[in-house]
Amino acid sequence: MRIGVRLAASACLIAGCVAPSIEPPAPRLSVGGSSPLVAAFERVSYDTGVPAELLASLAYLETRFQLVTPNAHAHGLATYGLFALSAEDLEAGARLAGVSDEAARADLMASLRAGAALVRANAPDAVTLEEFLAALTPERRTQVQTILARGLDGRDANGLSVVVAARGGKPAFGTVEQGLGYEGAEWIPASTANYGVANRTAITNVVIHTTQGSYSGTVSWFKNPAAEVSAHYVVRSADGHVAQMVDEKNVAWHDKCFNTTTIGIEHEGYVENPAKWYTEAMYSESAKLTAYLADKYGIEKKLGPIIGHGGAPDCSDHTDPGDGWDWDHYLDLVKVGGAGSFAASDVVVEAPATMVSGERATVTVHITNTGSSAWDLDITRLGTAAPQDRESAFFTDGDWISPNRATAVDTAVKRGETGTFTFDIVAPHVTAPTSFDETFQLVEEGVAWFGPDIHVTTQVTPDKASEAGGCASTTNGGLACGMFALGAVVLRRRRSRARR
Ligand SMILES: [Zn+2]
Repeated sequence: MRIGVRLAASACLIAGCVAPSIEPPAPRLSVGGSSPLVAAFERVSYDTGVPAELLASLAYLETRFQLVTPNAHAHGLATYGLFALSAEDLEAGARLAGVSDEAARADLMASLRAGAALVRANAPDAVTLEEFLAALTPERRTQVQTILARGLDGRDANGLSVVVAARGGKPAFGTVEQGLGYEGAEWIPASTANYGVANRTAITNVVIHTTQGSYSGTVSWFKNPAAEVSAHYVVRSADGHVAQMVDEKNVAWHDKCFNTTTIGIEHEGYVENPAKWYTEAMYSESAKLTAYLADKYGIEKKLGPIIGHGGAPDCSDHTDPGDGWDWDHYLDLVKVGGAGSFAASDVVVEAPATMVSGERATVTVHITNTGSSAWDLDITRLGTAAPQDRESAFFTDGDWISPNRATAVDTAVKRGETGTFTFDIVAPHVTAPTSFDETFQLVEEGVAWFGPDIHVTTQVTPDKASEAGGCASTTNGGLACGMFALGAVVLRRRRSRARR
């Protein structure tokens, strides 16, 4: 019997058919989505040999796919473009890529080329993704590996998606040296040139800042003796990871003339883009830290004692963390020690009632956030359920994050608001009309599954053209045919050639 099946399968391959039906294909497209950036990553990858998924991961880590320019709120080094390059690196990258400095600052494609040229210069002989990763600093490598393991569903400046396919495996985690006082922190000491040594025990305020740069850029800036600035703590956007950089008894230089009796907490991100950077993970972990500080120093858990840089009685014109910081939500979390909750209800699914094998359609799921935690771009996702993490027969390469993650939420969703999840499906190949009931559930990646089961039901009928084409199908019903399958094979071949 097994031999018979194998013969049928190879005959089918030659005829342009594929072993199909309920089995989803493995991901082939490393970067997908509706943003024009996707084609740009592919193009520059083709020209430089730097893998597109590496370029996309680095741009996401540094700027969340925005072109950044320095402004008055900046606490760190002035940075530019899609990869938040320093003026020096930007100049070097532009020269290597053959574009002008001006273009590398302001033009998306030129900025991408300048960044890719630096990655290439850092690993001149690298061919494979693994070789490029090996040339990165350990910290940067860990961040990229974490993204590649769990995939990414980000949004460009116009809200269009950039998807990096999940490769699975465990996200990489670095070793963590415990903080001085706060147990939840990694201890990464700032340069001793960047703070004042003291022996403080009285603290009156916690000051909330925004870095206007990436977490790693900020951490390395505070380690640089030329910076002359620092903060006691830096919190990372994607997962709320906390670094402690200055002992609480010392005076960090974070708030001009309001440093003496205060603790400064920097939050990774840009005030202009709160929905992309002020994640629930960051609010929650920062609130946990602020609750700890408030309890330790007898600081009241309300606005005033806990204050934004922009509202502090200092002598600077900084406005961070800006209007996009949700103070009500943050202070609520501080009062409960950072512990929010995830819940959802009222599901509405828009999906086609019938489809033909190989046909593509868009599915929209509306669902209301009834928990106390907000939902985030990229992190709050629609996962396959019943059973959890099942590979879906409707997996759509280049649109889904992985066969068990259809998409992330379209925009950030606060408590009480209704969120939308939009994704494409491709009807599986069937040899007879088949009813599918695909079950999904919400998942806060790395935290919890929550909410009711979400059913996408559709009736799939065989593709008439491929039936007429007379492709072999076996008695076990496990094989089907079609031009769709041939297209997939060609695509895969073209892609592997582009990789050389
Ligand atoms: Zn500030």
